[in-house]
Amino acid sequence: MRLDKFVADSNGITRSQAKKLIKDGLISVNQKIIKQTKFQIDVNLDNVQVNKMSIAYQEYRYYMMNKPKDVVSATRDNSQKTVIDLVAKINQKGLFPVGRLDKDTTGLLILTNDGEFAHKLLAPKKHVSKIYRALVAGEITADTIQIFATGITLKNGETTKPALLKILTVDSEKNEAEIEITITEGKYHQIKRMFGAVSMKVLELKRIQMGNLKLDDKIKAGKYRELTLDELRCLK
Ligand code: URA
Repeated sequence: MRLDKFVADSNGITRSQAKKLIKDGLISVNQKIIKQTKFQIDVNLDNVQVNKMSIAYQEYRYYMMNKPKDVVSATRDNSQKTVIDLVAKINQKGLFPVGRLDKDTTGLLILTNDGEFAHKLLAPKKHVSKIYRALVAGEITADTIQIFATGITLKNGETTKPALLKILTVDSEKNEAEIEITITEGKYHQIKRMFGAVSMKVLELKRIQMGNLKLDDKIKAGKYRELTLDELRCLK
């Protein structure tokens, strides 16, 4: 593999950024500074160092983000801030969010540059569960829970798969409840539309889990970190 490709992929930078690091003499292969960008290396055998730190070849990158409100789940937008804008410039290359959360929804969002992985995770056939916490306005009765459990007909006639609805706390004065809901689909505005169908309103929504992957509560809103190998394995 060409040295500039190795350096670019492993650091999430562009080829031209990688070429500059190489030409500036910051890259060594087996302890020797190499300034030729097309120098061929063996990814398994050669020891490539940037600023004297060894780097391993990494084609794909996977991150867990705690999405804040007021940013859109897109790679680019002409007028609004995107989740990719929150990732350090040096590390953005090829990253995209796996699925979408609404602009006002917070919580677990996976970012990656691995298209096949994203495709598999989102495939409707896989029924990967997603767990959300929400603050909702209106009264939840045993009937509501039953309707969610059997599947709801949305206002446009679409039906949803069974969803598990749990009440966490109730504020009877405000007529609001904190709930947890598990769904196995990803329809547009699904949870807001499900509550809309039973004449309730979602006031706040946060995703806390996808499949077996839980949002790390140490990650503050707007921050992100790389997935551990165990976390990645539990999604694949
Ligand atoms: N359901 C919604 O209504 N919005 C989201 O962002 C995610 C699920």
